[in-house]
Amino acid sequence: MAWIISINRDEEKGMMRRILVWGLAAVLALLLVGCEALDEADNVPLSERPIRVVATTGMVADIVQNVGGERVEVEGLMGPGVDPHLYKASAGDVNRLQAADVIFYNGLHLEAQMGKVFERMSGTDVVTVPVAENINPAELLAPPEFQGNYDPHVWFNVQFWMTAVEEVEAALAKMDPDHADVYAANAKAYLAELAALDAYVREQALRVPEDQRVLITAHDAFNYFGRAYGFEVRGLQGISTASEASTADMQDLARFIAERQIPAIFLESSVPPRTVEAVQAAVHDRGFDVQIGGELFSDAMGTAGTPEGTYIGMVRHNVDTIVGALLGE
Ligand code: ZN
Repeated sequence: MAWIISINRDEEKGMMRRILVWGLAAVLALLLVGCEALDEADNVPLSERPIRVVATTGMVADIVQNVGGERVEVEGLMGPGVDPHLYKASAGDVNRLQAADVIFYNGLHLEAQMGKVFERMSGTDVVTVPVAENINPAELLAPPEFQGNYDPHVWFNVQFWMTAVEEVEAALAKMDPDHADVYAANAKAYLAELAALDAYVREQALRVPEDQRVLITAHDAFNYFGRAYGFEVRGLQGISTASEASTADMQDLARFIAERQIPAIFLESSVPPRTVEAVQAAVHDRGFDVQIGGELFSDAMGTAGTPEGTYIGMVRHNVDTIVGALLGE
Protein backbone atom coordinates (compact mmCIF):
# COMPACT_ATOMS: atom_id res chain seq x y z
CA MET A 1 0.00 0.00 0.00
CA ALA A 2 2.69 2.42 1.07
CA TRP A 3 4.67 1.56 -2.06
CA ILE A 4 1.72 2.27 -4.38
CA ILE A 5 1.13 5.63 -2.72
CA SER A 6 4.79 6.60 -3.08
CA ILE A 7 4.71 5.68 -6.79
CA ASN A 8 1.64 7.85 -7.22
CA ARG A 9 3.35 10.74 -5.45
CA ASP A 10 6.35 10.46 -7.74
CA GLU A 11 4.08 10.39 -10.76
CA GLU A 12 2.25 13.40 -9.42
CA LYS A 13 5.52 15.30 -8.93
CA GLY A 14 6.59 14.40 -12.45
CA MET A 15 3.33 15.59 -13.85
CA MET A 16 3.53 18.87 -11.92
CA ARG A 17 7.03 19.40 -13.26
CA ARG A 18 5.84 18.74 -16.82
CA ILE A 19 2.93 21.14 -16.39
CA LEU A 20 5.28 23.80 -15.07
CA VAL A 21 7.74 23.38 -17.92
CA TRP A 22 5.04 23.43 -20.59
CA GLY A 23 3.31 26.31 -18.86
CA LEU A 24 6.50 28.37 -18.83
CA ALA A 25 7.16 27.50 -22.46
CA ALA A 26 3.64 28.61 -23.37
CA VAL A 27 4.01 31.92 -21.52
CA LEU A 28 7.37 32.55 -23.23
CA ALA A 29 5.89 31.74 -26.61
CA LEU A 30 2.99 34.15 -26.01
CA LEU A 31 5.41 36.89 -24.95
CA LEU A 32 7.50 36.36 -28.06
CA VAL A 33 4.45 36.43 -30.33
CA GLY A 34 3.25 39.57 -28.52
CA CYS A 35 6.57 41.36 -29.06
CA GLU A 36 6.67 40.28 -32.66
CA ALA A 37 3.11 41.57 -33.29
CA LEU A 38 4.06 44.89 -31.70
CA ASP A 39 7.26 45.13 -33.73
CA GLU A 40 5.42 44.27 -36.88
CA ALA A 41 2.78 46.93 -36.27
CA ASP A 42 5.52 49.49 -35.68
CA ASN A 43 7.53 48.55 -38.74
CA VAL A 44 4.65 48.27 -41.19
CA PRO A 45 4.11 51.67 -42.88
CA LEU A 46 1.01 53.49 -41.70
CA SER A 47 -0.54 53.29 -45.14
CA GLU A 48 -0.59 49.48 -44.95
CA ARG A 49 -2.28 49.02 -41.59
CA PRO A 50 -5.13 50.68 -39.68
CA ILE A 51 -4.16 53.87 -37.84
CA ARG A 52 -4.35 53.41 -34.07
CA VAL A 53 -6.42 56.27 -32.68
CA VAL A 54 -7.31 57.20 -29.13
CA ALA A 55 -10.07 59.82 -28.79
CA THR A 56 -11.20 61.41 -25.53
CA THR A 57 -14.94 62.17 -25.72
CA GLY A 58 -17.47 60.09 -27.64
CA MET A 59 -18.22 63.06 -29.90
CA VAL A 60 -14.58 63.26 -31.00
CA ALA A 61 -14.36 59.47 -31.43
CA ASP A 62 -17.48 59.62 -33.61
CA ILE A 63 -15.88 62.13 -35.99
CA VAL A 64 -12.75 60.00 -36.32
CA GLN A 65 -14.79 56.86 -36.99
CA ASN A 66 -16.84 58.63 -39.65
CA VAL A 67 -13.85 60.22 -41.39
CA GLY A 68 -11.39 57.36 -40.92
CA GLY A 69 -13.80 54.52 -41.72
CA GLU A 70 -11.95 51.24 -42.11
CA ARG A 71 -8.60 52.98 -42.06
CA VAL A 72 -8.77 53.61 -38.30
CA GLU A 73 -9.05 51.62 -35.09
CA VAL A 74 -10.63 54.06 -32.67
CA GLU A 75 -10.55 53.68 -28.93
CA GLY A 76 -12.66 56.19 -26.97
CA LEU A 77 -11.63 56.97 -23.40
CA MET A 78 -14.80 58.57 -22.04
CA GLY A 79 -17.95 56.47 -22.29
CA PRO A 80 -21.61 57.34 -21.67
CA GLY A 81 -22.26 59.45 -18.58
CA VAL A 82 -18.58 60.36 -18.12
CA ASP A 83 -17.81 64.00 -17.31
CA PRO A 84 -14.77 65.21 -19.32
CA HIS A 85 -14.16 68.23 -17.04
CA LEU A 86 -13.34 65.90 -14.14
CA TYR A 87 -11.91 62.89 -16.01
CA LYS A 88 -8.43 61.79 -14.95
CA ALA A 89 -6.38 59.44 -17.10
CA SER A 90 -5.88 56.04 -15.47
CA ALA A 91 -2.60 54.10 -15.77
CA GLY A 92 -4.32 51.98 -18.44
CA ASP A 93 -5.31 55.12 -20.35
CA VAL A 94 -1.72 56.39 -20.32
CA ASN A 95 -0.58 53.08 -21.83
CA ARG A 96 -3.29 53.33 -24.49
CA LEU A 97 -2.30 56.92 -25.26
CA GLN A 98 1.37 55.96 -25.56
CA ALA A 99 0.58 53.08 -27.91
CA ALA A 100 -1.53 55.26 -30.24
CA ASP A 101 -0.41 56.72 -33.57
CA VAL A 102 -2.59 59.75 -32.95
CA ILE A 103 -4.67 61.19 -30.12
CA PHE A 104 -7.68 63.33 -31.00
CA TYR A 105 -9.15 65.41 -28.19
CA ASN A 106 -11.54 68.34 -27.88
CA GLY A 107 -9.09 70.85 -26.44
CA LEU A 108 -10.06 74.36 -25.25
CA HIS A 109 -9.43 73.00 -21.77
CA LEU A 110 -12.43 70.63 -21.84
CA GLU A 111 -10.30 67.70 -20.66
CA ALA A 112 -8.95 69.89 -17.88
CA GLN A 113 -7.34 67.09 -15.86
CA MET A 114 -5.50 65.63 -18.85
CA GLY A 115 -3.37 68.63 -19.84
CA LYS A 116 -0.22 67.19 -18.26
CA VAL A 117 -0.68 63.82 -20.00
CA PHE A 118 -1.04 65.53 -23.40
CA GLU A 119 2.03 67.67 -22.66
CA ARG A 120 4.07 64.55 -21.95
CA MET A 121 2.90 63.06 -25.27
CA SER A 122 4.09 66.06 -27.26
CA GLY A 123 7.71 64.97 -26.77
CA THR A 124 7.01 61.55 -28.34
CA ASP A 125 6.12 60.49 -31.89
CA VAL A 126 2.43 60.26 -30.97
CA VAL A 127 0.53 62.94 -32.91
CA THR A 128 -1.88 65.01 -30.78
CA VAL A 129 -4.77 66.94 -32.35
CA PRO A 130 -7.11 69.24 -30.38
CA VAL A 131 -10.01 69.16 -32.85
CA ALA A 132 -11.83 72.25 -31.55
CA GLU A 133 -8.86 74.56 -31.48
CA ASN A 134 -8.93 75.62 -35.13
CA ILE A 135 -12.30 77.32 -34.78
CA ASN A 136 -11.90 81.06 -35.27
CA PRO A 137 -11.25 82.42 -31.73
CA ALA A 138 -13.32 85.51 -32.57
CA GLU A 139 -16.33 83.17 -32.76
CA LEU A 140 -15.66 81.60 -29.37
CA LEU A 141 -17.14 82.60 -26.03
CA ALA A 142 -14.75 83.54 -23.24
CA PRO A 143 -16.80 83.60 -20.04
CA PRO A 144 -14.97 85.57 -17.32
CA GLU A 145 -15.49 82.84 -14.70
CA PHE A 146 -13.59 80.32 -16.84
CA GLN A 147 -10.21 81.85 -15.98
CA GLY A 148 -9.26 83.18 -19.38
CA ASN A 149 -10.19 79.99 -21.22
CA TYR A 150 -12.76 79.68 -23.98
CA ASP A 151 -16.04 77.85 -23.47
CA PRO A 152 -15.13 74.37 -24.79
CA HIS A 153 -18.68 73.09 -25.56
CA VAL A 154 -18.35 73.87 -29.26
CA TRP A 155 -20.04 70.66 -30.48
CA PHE A 156 -23.47 72.17 -29.77
CA ASN A 157 -23.08 74.55 -32.65
CA VAL A 158 -23.19 71.96 -35.43
CA GLN A 159 -21.39 74.34 -37.80
CA PHE A 160 -18.46 74.60 -35.36
CA TRP A 161 -18.36 70.82 -35.16
CA MET A 162 -18.09 70.72 -38.95
CA THR A 163 -14.84 72.67 -38.57
CA ALA A 164 -13.65 69.94 -36.18
CA VAL A 165 -14.46 67.33 -38.85
CA GLU A 166 -12.25 69.20 -41.32
CA GLU A 167 -9.48 69.26 -38.71
CA VAL A 168 -9.66 65.45 -38.31
CA GLU A 169 -9.66 64.96 -42.08
CA ALA A 170 -6.58 67.18 -42.47
CA ALA A 171 -4.71 65.36 -39.69
CA LEU A 172 -5.44 61.87 -41.07
CA ALA A 173 -4.54 62.92 -44.62
CA LYS A 174 -1.26 64.39 -43.38
CA MET A 175 -0.33 61.20 -41.52
CA ASP A 176 -1.48 58.86 -44.28
CA PRO A 177 -1.37 60.78 -47.59
CA ASP A 178 -1.84 57.56 -49.62
CA HIS A 179 -5.45 57.48 -48.43
CA ALA A 180 -6.19 61.20 -48.49
CA ASP A 181 -8.92 60.61 -51.08
CA VAL A 182 -10.67 58.16 -48.71
CA TYR A 183 -10.66 60.68 -45.87
CA ALA A 184 -11.84 63.46 -48.19
CA ALA A 185 -14.75 61.38 -49.49
CA ASN A 186 -15.77 60.23 -45.97
CA ALA A 187 -15.53 63.76 -44.60
CA LYS A 188 -17.60 65.13 -47.47
CA ALA A 189 -20.39 62.59 -46.80
CA TYR A 190 -20.35 63.22 -43.04
CA LEU A 191 -20.31 67.01 -43.50
CA ALA A 192 -23.41 66.71 -45.67
CA GLU A 193 -25.15 64.82 -42.85
CA LEU A 194 -24.08 67.47 -40.37
CA ALA A 195 -25.35 70.28 -42.61
CA ALA A 196 -28.73 68.52 -42.65
CA LEU A 197 -28.56 68.17 -38.85
CA ASP A 198 -27.84 71.87 -38.47
CA ALA A 199 -30.90 72.69 -40.60
CA TYR A 200 -33.04 70.27 -38.54
CA VAL A 201 -32.05 71.87 -35.21
CA ARG A 202 -32.76 75.35 -36.60
CA GLU A 203 -36.17 74.25 -37.90
CA GLN A 204 -37.16 72.59 -34.59
CA ALA A 205 -36.02 75.59 -32.53
CA LEU A 206 -38.28 77.87 -34.56
CA ARG A 207 -41.33 75.85 -33.47
CA VAL A 208 -40.96 77.40 -30.00
CA PRO A 209 -42.15 81.04 -29.77
CA GLU A 210 -39.12 83.29 -29.32
CA ASP A 211 -39.97 84.49 -25.77
CA GLN A 212 -40.33 80.87 -24.60
CA ARG A 213 -36.99 79.72 -25.96
CA VAL A 214 -35.29 79.43 -22.58
CA LEU A 215 -33.03 76.47 -21.86
CA ILE A 216 -32.11 75.72 -18.24
CA THR A 217 -29.73 72.86 -17.48
CA ALA A 218 -27.35 71.56 -14.82
CA HIS A 219 -24.22 73.31 -16.11
CA ASP A 220 -23.34 75.87 -18.75
CA ALA A 221 -22.83 73.47 -21.65
CA PHE A 222 -25.36 75.01 -24.04
CA ASN A 223 -24.19 78.57 -24.64
CA TYR A 224 -23.08 77.88 -28.22
CA PHE A 225 -26.32 75.99 -28.82
CA GLY A 226 -28.26 78.96 -27.47
CA ARG A 227 -26.39 81.50 -29.56
CA ALA A 228 -26.63 79.47 -32.78
CA TYR A 229 -30.28 78.45 -32.49
CA GLY A 230 -31.83 81.36 -30.62
CA PHE A 231 -32.26 80.12 -27.03
CA GLU A 232 -31.66 82.09 -23.86
CA VAL A 233 -29.49 79.73 -21.80
CA ARG A 234 -28.99 79.42 -18.05
CA GLY A 235 -26.92 76.72 -16.34
CA LEU A 236 -26.95 76.14 -12.62
CA GLN A 237 -23.25 75.32 -12.46
CA GLY A 238 -20.72 77.24 -14.51
CA ILE A 239 -18.87 76.29 -17.68
CA SER A 240 -17.05 73.51 -15.83
CA THR A 241 -18.71 71.09 -13.44
CA ALA A 242 -15.63 71.46 -11.21
CA SER A 243 -17.23 74.43 -9.42
CA GLU A 244 -20.25 73.78 -7.19
CA ALA A 245 -23.39 75.90 -7.44
CA SER A 246 -24.01 78.01 -4.33
CA THR A 247 -27.35 78.32 -2.53
CA ALA A 248 -27.53 81.91 -3.83
CA ASP A 249 -27.10 80.65 -7.44
CA MET A 250 -29.88 78.17 -6.87
CA GLN A 251 -32.25 80.78 -5.41
CA ASP A 252 -31.47 83.20 -8.26
CA LEU A 253 -32.29 80.57 -10.82
CA ALA A 254 -35.46 79.51 -8.97
CA ARG A 255 -36.66 83.13 -8.91
CA PHE A 256 -35.93 83.49 -12.64
CA ILE A 257 -37.88 80.32 -13.47
CA ALA A 258 -40.87 81.27 -11.29
CA GLU A 259 -41.00 84.85 -12.61
CA ARG A 260 -40.74 83.82 -16.25
CA GLN A 261 -43.04 80.81 -15.68
CA ILE A 262 -40.67 78.54 -17.56
CA PRO A 263 -42.41 75.19 -18.05
CA ALA A 264 -39.40 72.84 -18.05
CA ILE A 265 -35.77 72.48 -16.98
CA PHE A 266 -33.41 69.68 -17.97
CA LEU A 267 -31.07 67.07 -16.53
CA GLU A 268 -27.77 66.14 -18.16
CA SER A 269 -26.59 62.56 -18.51
CA SER A 270 -23.07 63.35 -17.30
CA VAL A 271 -24.05 65.46 -14.26
CA PRO A 272 -25.76 64.06 -11.12
CA PRO A 273 -29.49 65.07 -11.08
CA ARG A 274 -29.61 66.37 -7.49
CA THR A 275 -28.85 70.04 -8.22
CA VAL A 276 -31.52 70.33 -10.91
CA GLU A 277 -33.99 68.56 -8.61
CA ALA A 278 -33.10 71.03 -5.84
CA VAL A 279 -33.88 73.92 -8.22
CA GLN A 280 -37.23 72.31 -9.00
CA ALA A 281 -38.02 72.14 -5.26
CA ALA A 282 -36.92 75.79 -4.76
CA VAL A 283 -39.24 76.87 -7.60
CA HIS A 284 -42.07 74.93 -5.98
CA ASP A 285 -41.45 76.85 -2.72
CA ARG A 286 -42.08 80.03 -4.71
CA GLY A 287 -45.51 78.77 -5.72
CA PHE A 288 -44.72 77.68 -9.28
CA ASP A 289 -44.22 74.18 -10.63
CA VAL A 290 -41.55 73.55 -13.23
CA GLN A 291 -41.27 70.13 -14.86
CA ILE A 292 -38.10 68.15 -15.42
CA GLY A 293 -38.28 68.09 -19.22
CA GLY A 294 -36.03 65.06 -19.62
CA GLU A 295 -32.36 64.25 -19.82
CA LEU A 296 -30.01 65.89 -22.31
CA PHE A 297 -26.69 64.56 -23.51
CA SER A 298 -24.33 67.42 -22.86
CA ASP A 299 -20.71 66.38 -22.44
CA ALA A 300 -21.09 62.64 -23.19
CA MET A 301 -23.06 60.69 -25.79
CA GLY A 302 -25.58 57.93 -25.01
CA THR A 303 -24.95 54.18 -24.96
CA ALA A 304 -23.22 52.70 -28.03
CA GLY A 305 -25.71 51.00 -30.33
CA THR A 306 -28.57 53.41 -29.46
CA PRO A 307 -29.36 56.45 -31.65
CA GLU A 308 -28.03 58.73 -28.86
CA GLY A 309 -24.72 56.85 -28.98
CA THR A 310 -23.80 58.93 -32.04
CA TYR A 311 -23.19 62.66 -32.29
CA ILE A 312 -26.05 63.15 -34.74
CA GLY A 313 -28.39 61.11 -32.54
CA MET A 314 -27.47 62.99 -29.39
CA VAL A 315 -28.05 66.39 -30.99
CA ARG A 316 -31.40 65.29 -32.41
CA HIS A 317 -32.43 63.82 -29.05
CA ASN A 318 -31.52 67.06 -27.29
CA VAL A 319 -33.42 69.39 -29.59
CA ASP A 320 -36.45 67.06 -29.71
CA THR A 321 -36.47 66.82 -25.89
CA ILE A 322 -36.04 70.58 -25.39
CA VAL A 323 -38.65 71.62 -27.95
CA GLY A 324 -41.12 68.92 -26.87
CA ALA A 325 -40.93 69.89 -23.19
CA LEU A 326 -41.07 73.66 -23.78
CA LEU A 327 -44.14 73.24 -26.00
CA GLY A 328 -45.70 70.80 -23.49
CA GLU A 329 -46.02 68.10 -26.14
ZN1 ZN B 1 -19.33 70.73 -19.76
